[in-house]
Amino acid sequence: MNPTKAANEPVSATMPEMEVDPAVYKTLLESTLAIPWKIDWATMRFAYIGPQIAPLLGWSQDSWISVEDWASRIHPEDRDHVVNFCVSQSIAGKDHEADYRALTKDDGYVWIRDVVHVVRREDGEVESLIGFMFDISERKRIEHELVKMQKKLEALSFEDGLTGTSNRRHYDERLQAEWKGAQAAQHPLSLILLDIDHFKNYNDFYGHIQGDECLVKVASALKDICARPRDIVARYGGEEFVLLLPETTEAEAAVFAERCRAAIESLHIRHERSSTSTVVTASVGVGTVIPPFESNALHFCDAVDKLLYAAKQEGRNQVRSTFSA
Ligand code: GH3
Ligand code: MG
Ligand code: MG
Repeated sequence: MNPTKAANEPVSATMPEMEVDPAVYKTLLESTLAIPWKIDWATMRFAYIGPQIAPLLGWSQDSWISVEDWASRIHPEDRDHVVNFCVSQSIAGKDHEADYRALTKDDGYVWIRDVVHVVRREDGEVESLIGFMFDISERKRIEHELVKMQKKLEALSFEDGLTGTSNRRHYDERLQAEWKGAQAAQHPLSLILLDIDHFKNYNDFYGHIQGDECLVKVASALKDICARPRDIVARYGGEEFVLLLPETTEAEAAVFAERCRAAIESLHIRHERSSTSTVVTASVGVGTVIPPFESNALHFCDAVDKLLYAAKQEGRNQVRSTFSA
């Protein structure tokens, strides 16, 4: 209680202006993690920069003389766009912020977020820039990790867990994209459907784990055959695989299909319960289309599936194609 005030005297609604010793401001500014600075607009020279800059970047406090010192200590890949952005915003009198890599004296860099306030005189002319530099390295590291993780997750979501080939989802997506591409360019698109023969018997006889190992070996052989970047090998179903081959003619696709069949046979995986062979084999259907305008892939996929079915009917371990050499 103020003893000089009468108990019923009304209290003023506004606080009287506090007198603060400038040394207090200075202590406050120089004890924060953010680094304060001021640039005089007329001379483009630093009027002030906090001493915290030295431990962060290694450049001493008194080495920050002009904006050139600032610009030259920005990573070359960030320099031009950051300097141009900050200059244009400042001329326009707009407060702004910029993220960039500041170079350290020992040839490293630190991610900085510079938050800038443009101080203008009464006539509107820019007088100075004042700002804070924040060390955002940790935030950038986490962002980078997140992007990496997201890419990994995306890749995993397109991959078949057992065999490492593309999964059905990725295949469906690629088929749609390649169908449209081939349709627009009127290029041929080829499809190989492949189904392991008597695989139920294989599983029943050798067990599910060995069945899985067999699928991995078959997938690996197929991946070796499809080497072009846009080719896709996908696990279509349990023991069915599909190869999508853009810009591949009917004759080329027939060669690929036979190569797939032969590669699986020459893995020499014993199959005592196959009535087709002593080793694991596969039946193959292959088709090629130049997609007509206003069409979708359904009929084409159906037709190739019928060729696979025909290969099964006619004795398995063989390729059925519409191509006759
Ligand atoms: P066909 O020659 O007519 O193709 O006969 P099939 O026995 O291969 O065909 P079917 O479709 O009757 O059986 C497929 C079998 O594939 C059923 C199942 O035992 C096996 N299978 C499907 N997915 C997997 C899998 O992920 N792992 C293992 N080990 N076996 C699988
Ligand atoms: Mg099958
Ligand atoms: Mg089968």
